[in-house]
Amino acid sequence: MTYLLTERPLDGRVAVVTGASSGMGEATARRLSALGASVAVIARREEKLASLVADITSADGKAVHIPVDVTDRIAVRTAAEQVADALGPADLVFNNAGVQLISAIDELKVDDWQRQIDLNVTGVMNVIAAFLPHLTAAAERGDTADLINTSSIAATRILEKFSIYSGTKAYISHLTRLIRVELGRKNVRVSAIEPGMVDTELPDHVTDPDASALMAGLLHDITCLRSTDIAETVAFIAALPRHVNISELTILPTAQPV
Ligand code: NDP
Repeated sequence: MTYLLTERPLDGRVAVVTGASSGMGEATARRLSALGASVAVIARREEKLASLVADITSADGKAVHIPVDVTDRIAVRTAAEQVADALGPADLVFNNAGVQLISAIDELKVDDWQRQIDLNVTGVMNVIAAFLPHLTAAAERGDTADLINTSSIAATRILEKFSIYSGTKAYISHLTRLIRVELGRKNVRVSAIEPGMVDTELPDHVTDPDASALMAGLLHDITCLRSTDIAETVAFIAALPRHVNISELTILPTAQPV
């Protein structure tokens, strides 16, 4: 068996992408659609999602947008019902929405701490809770089922001012390993991708000016990954034969040292 992918390896798949209004999520939604999947795009900014869906449908793809704040557990559960109604139950979940608000610990930016924990931990768990029944049902039917969580190299690196963000991503990486034990037995593939620096809107939300300058410098100094690099990676993981699970994948810009 070779891994040379067919032109539309995701034909018939139903994908959910969170954090789809920009950056890695948006690029991945476009790519999954181009490879044949129907796509439900989730984030808060409705206009951006609607414009993405318009692009996908004008390229003969099938997509729906569901504006949801994933920190709202009930709203995410409702979104899962909407996906099932519009496209059918999901068999590919790119659990990607996240925020990075780096700052020195002694600045006590506790609101930023909380926002990161609410989205990067609780939001990710809400998506798992809402869509896991879709994935296990798909696997029981004999279909390929994927849960792909976005972690970060920050999960394992010691990066100054990244403490809370890194903590949330360490949670995601280890959670992924642990639930893979249970879900792999049920033929649901579980993956974590750990990117290095990707040129997206992510640093724009940082409220600490020093940390913001640090991020801008890093972005300026090297050729970062592009969102399309991540999209290609997620598509590759999802398009592999059903018995192959890339469980953890680190992807770095070539010139990023750590
Ligand atoms: P972006 O800021 O471009 O994307 C973040 C996405 O999350 C947006 O679509 C945003 O949409 C969405 N989002 C934010 N808050 C919520 C919420 N409460 N509910 C639903 N959606 C929400 O950054 P990236 O594409 O870079 O980030 C994607 C993921 O990649 C994150 O998990 C990030 O931590 C991770 N990552 C990024 C790296 C990088 O260098 N860029 C490196 C490693 C990991 P909206 O505002 O419309 O809700």
